[in-house]
Amino acid sequence: MLRAKGDARASHLHPEPTGPAQTWAMEKPRVQVVWFKRDLRVVDHAPLAEATAAGPVLPLYIVEPELWQQSDASARQFAALREGLIELDAALAALGQGLIVRCANAIAALESLRAQVTIEAIWSHMETGNAWTFARDRAVAAWAREQRIVWHQRRQFGVVRGLKERRAWVAQWERLMAAPQVATPLALVRIGSIVSEPIPEPAQLAIDDQPCPGRQRGGRVAALALLDSFLGARGANYHRQMSSPRSAENACSRLSLGLATGTLSLREVVQATRARRAALRDAAEPSPQTRALAAFESRLHWHCHFIQKLESEATLEHTHVHRGYDGLRPSAPDAARLAAWRDGLTGWPFVDACVRMLRDTGWINFRMRAMLVALASYHLWLPWQASGAVLARRFTDYEPGIHWAQMQMQSGVTGINIPRIYNPLKQSRDQDPDGAFIRRWVPELAAVGGDWIHSPWQMDASIARRAGVRIGIDYPAPIVDHEQAAREARARLGEWRRRPGMGAQNHAVLIKHGSRKRKVTVRAAPPRVQADLFEQ
Ligand SMILES: Cc1cc2nc3c(=O)[nH]c(=O)nc-3n(C[C@H](O)[C@H](O)[C@H](O)COP(=O)(O)OP(=O)(O)OC[C@H]3O[C@@H](n4cnc5c(N)ncnc54)[C@H](O)[C@@H]3O)c2cc1C
Repeated sequence: MLRAKGDARASHLHPEPTGPAQTWAMEKPRVQVVWFKRDLRVVDHAPLAEATAAGPVLPLYIVEPELWQQSDASARQFAALREGLIELDAALAALGQGLIVRCANAIAALESLRAQVTIEAIWSHMETGNAWTFARDRAVAAWAREQRIVWHQRRQFGVVRGLKERRAWVAQWERLMAAPQVATPLALVRIGSIVSEPIPEPAQLAIDDQPCPGRQRGGRVAALALLDSFLGARGANYHRQMSSPRSAENACSRLSLGLATGTLSLREVVQATRARRAALRDAAEPSPQTRALAAFESRLHWHCHFIQKLESEATLEHTHVHRGYDGLRPSAPDAARLAAWRDGLTGWPFVDACVRMLRDTGWINFRMRAMLVALASYHLWLPWQASGAVLARRFTDYEPGIHWAQMQMQSGVTGINIPRIYNPLKQSRDQDPDGAFIRRWVPELAAVGGDWIHSPWQMDASIARRAGVRIGIDYPAPIVDHEQAAREARARLGEWRRRPGMGAQNHAVLIKHGSRKRKVTVRAAPPRVQADLFEQ
């Protein structure tokens, strides 16, 4: 490979010829490949820093078409990621070497690069992804071993690979989060001979999705602005306003997208939060934000606590962590029920409003995520694997470790969490008392007044006529009677939980996945274990 004319910075990649000219012409640049995955930043990025210290860096992002065809992938996720990639490219280019994008299977991309450069090592952050990325990482690791290329993987979260024992987990999390952030390299050597492919548009990848007009913007600039505004005034009432989707939209941090795509490092968020808490403590006047930020910081801890579950048990994306629950629900969902729930046509206005907000924005708050899952899993008795795939595609902040562990927990199949069967009417009245949220997202009901907005199926014909809605025609009647469905679900689950051998497995799940922050107790029968942290 010949040196680009006039490119002084590339000179040390191409030693002056000492032998015959032909040998020099054949020599390929020797590079450290930094493989960016869900860590789209140059700040607090250990693989980038270490690779830069080892030699010239080739920053690589591989758009893997097959990944984007998985059942949990969506165009909204890719669109947000793409915005992060564009900003990452600019940040890297400012250092001297822009991002090299390849659109291919990971091994094919690395192989084709090897035709142009000598890969001395690969550097990346350890990823706890879905089953597909797990299999891909194993294949890449085997390929790298064959090529005698070392692949260095560094931790960006408080998640431990090969964890044997949960006891010291909290302490290691704390050490990682309290450690100084990794310095950004001052400059990168330009590797002029390698040209990037354009970053494809979502449409070019033919990824399945529905339009998401209110999607949160990806990229580090937007994520930093959110961090700033949240730690400033916006998050002052976080702990009080997180439960209703009306207030949560603004009161929650909205940092999940930045964390899922890695445009922010978790450590920088933890440290910025702690700095703000310290400033509030030192202030003359006590601030309500102190409690808000304490609640927020504990959630940053949960982030890794949940991802650790998937890291420790890769099958939990598809299989019950507690195998005693195998067979509780049918493996094939009732298609009509799943479609009604997915499309926001259950006939419970508040539930449908939440579904439609999620469909159109790619985000909804924790409590509503939990409620949607509970309704799917208990009232509609759908397998969590099917409803989980629908939600995963809808979330722009999809994080497999949090998502699938939460899906199992909210479906009552971990054995170590008390099942929570939400009442859609109570949630409606509690979280949206005047129905403004429902009217915004379910326009069919815009003219329904008073308390009827929560249960329009109870309107008599004349009231319904005045509100201009025909239940069963313009808007559906409830898909099931919620009280009866909840009763049946509770009975089925109770019967299942009392089966022989369930308690012993609860204990095994607790040992493997339970939090060690608090003392946990295991009761004999019925097998109920109070553990973990959960209810918001
Ligand atoms: C069924 C279900 C699926 C979920 N799937 C995802 C997912 O795919 N990706 C995702 O990031 N979160 C998921 N969550 C957790 C939570 O709902 C979101 O993290 C939160 O709503 C994101 O908004 P935020 O950043 O404003 O959160 P904030 O309340 O501001 O919290 C800050 C951060 O803390 C972490 N966090 C907050 N709550 C939780 C929690 N209960 N468990 C673990 N981490 C938490 C997240 O990283 C979040 O960004 C899921 C929850 C449920 C019930």
